[in-house]
Amino acid sequence: MKRRQFLESAGAGALLTGGVLSGCGKQSSEGASQATASQQKFNWKMVTTWQKNFPGLGTAANLLAQLVGEMSGGRLNIKVYGANELVPPLEIFDAVTGGTAEMGHTSAYYWKGKIPEAQFFSTVPFGMTALEMNAWLYYGGGMELWRKMYAPHGLIPVAAGNSGVQMGGWFNREINTVEDLQGLKMRIPGLGGEVLRRAGGTPVGMPGTEIFTSLESGVIDATEWVGPWNDMAKALYKVAKYYYYPGWHEPGTTMECMINQAAFETLPADLQSIVMTACKAVNLDMLSEFTARNNQALQTLVHEHNVQLREFPKPVLDKLRAISIEVVEELARENEQAALVYQSYRQFQQQVLAWHDISERAYLNVRGG
Ligand code: CA
Repeated sequence: MKRRQFLESAGAGALLTGGVLSGCGKQSSEGASQATASQQKFNWKMVTTWQKNFPGLGTAANLLAQLVGEMSGGRLNIKVYGANELVPPLEIFDAVTGGTAEMGHTSAYYWKGKIPEAQFFSTVPFGMTALEMNAWLYYGGGMELWRKMYAPHGLIPVAAGNSGVQMGGWFNREINTVEDLQGLKMRIPGLGGEVLRRAGGTPVGMPGTEIFTSLESGVIDATEWVGPWNDMAKALYKVAKYYYYPGWHEPGTTMECMINQAAFETLPADLQSIVMTACKAVNLDMLSEFTARNNQALQTLVHEHNVQLREFPKPVLDKLRAISIEVVEELARENEQAALVYQSYRQFQQQVLAWHDISERAYLNVRGG
């Protein structure tokens, strides 16, 4: 029963009605098949949107493969491919759907062209934090909806990492008023990009691998990436002067492990549980590591690289928030699925806000130094 509950909370509930995990009343044949299954080895490929070994993101994919390998005693071996090693970084979805790879490590907002509502499972401007996202996904109905959206594509999504609140980004000029956003060419994905467009800017979509040279050559005026730790690793402080906060557009971005459903169903039950457990471990590990390393990296950026830290002016944030509400509500009207996800997301955010106003926010306000 415990395993059943865990798999359900990890979003694998629908599988429990399938053949692999059923078997009630077939104890002898189940025992025999498990003995056979326990000897079988699986070799999987995991494609990722990240550069191989990139701090936090690439290393999270490595950790996921490592944990699965260790917990399965080598029965499920996952080879990790960095961006462009097997497929381009934004072709992960097709690669896993088509079976080129059994797994992918990426983030759902990259698939907005295929599944608009997938963006809710990544992050939403002025939306939920990491703590709130995990609560919604695991215990607020979010995972069930996510699985439902990916099922027609033969994919099983699993939460497998969170960046926490990101930074607003790197700018080669100061943003003092809403007018300063006019004509701003900025690399910013997902819904945040649409918000910038309506605020007068020009959002540019590109994978992380192209950001540095694009900013250096002036193809873009600004970029967001993740936060101090990742941004320092990309040396973005060398090509832009001002570093803005907060990351209104990505307040707690969930990374996803997407799994080819047919491949998953060939795994015996214990390996399925191991994959789900490893994803949950990585989900916690990434957030913990980002929190620890971001604060170290911020000190280095400010004190050693003389980065100019700037807070977005309140009128700019007020404008972006107002546009964000419009953009998210429009997304909800795109199709029935999006409406369903939006309703669940919005209701959860409103409810958790009431709780966090008197817990997280109230506490941080009174904690002081
Ligand atoms: Ca980002």
